[in-house]
Amino acid sequence: MRQEKRQSSTIRKRIRRLYRQMRFKFWLAEQDYLICAESLNIRKMLQQNPYLARQISDAGWGEILRQLSYKCAWQHKPFVQIDALFPSTQVCNVCGYRNKALSKRFREHWECPCCGAIHDVDLNAAKNILNEGLRLLS
Ligand SMILES: [Zn+2]
Repeated sequence: MRQEKRQSSTIRKRIRRLYRQMRFKFWLAEQDYLICAESLNIRKMLQQNPYLARQISDAGWGEILRQLSYKCAWQHKPFVQIDALFPSTQVCNVCGYRNKALSKRFREHWECPCCGAIHDVDLNAAKNILNEGLRLLS
């Protein structure tokens, strides 16, 4: 009984989260934003991170990108997908230096050996994805 309640609560949370994601995607596609996203090789991510497989699958990243793509097309808004091989985390968004020495393991910060800029990995990658998206559009 207790376990059933717990499962039911978990399912309701997942459904609530899915609705929230869906509303957000519709809202995002209606805004006057340029949306650039990195294409994700979900299958490879699942193979490389078996301990995160459930979280990656639950997040439905592939589905988010697919829906954003068609919703933006529907609203006549730009949506740029950057190639999964684009080195968004390794390139310094300030000087363009590519830090190949940066290991594939997750790091929160790194310092550019060329210009000395200190980068938050996610923020740096986001800026690089935006820059690449703008470059592809021009
Ligand atoms: Zn740099």
